[in-house]
Amino acid sequence: MTKYLVGLALIFASNIALAANCTIDIEANDAMKFNQQNLTIDSSCKKVTLTLKHTGKLPANAMGHNWVMTKGADLMEIANAGMAAGLNNNYLPTGDSRIIAATKIIGGGQSDTIEIDTSKLTKGGDYAFFCSFPGHWAIMKGKVTVI
Ligand code: ZN
Repeated sequence: MTKYLVGLALIFASNIALAANCTIDIEANDAMKFNQQNLTIDSSCKKVTLTLKHTGKLPANAMGHNWVMTKGADLMEIANAGMAAGLNNNYLPTGDSRIIAATKIIGGGQSDTIEIDTSKLTKGGDYAFFCSFPGHWAIMKGKVTVI
């Protein structure tokens, strides 16, 4: 009986470890910060589920955040184009293929979950993430490593 329970616990633990590789949870706050600067996407996952949670209290029009993934070289151009696109377009140019993945803009207490298709990604490629709310990307950005 004890052996059986230990075995069960191990299976349970390994399932959790497996699931964790295909899930990314990241938080943003009223201090204009993400809680992580380095994310890893495991390309052995067909899809990676990313959830952005805004842990602050300020509304989307004052301290909105999104999570946008582009190639590192495209970050600045997409961020600048996003500024002109406005809140109704989640501060992103519509239909721009350089945007690999993006959540919508959310306010305090809200969250948004997206799926990232890993088949489009290259292992070891230069990828970045940022928030496209005007003025935020200078601080709210980080690196995405694809393994
Ligand atoms: Zn932001």
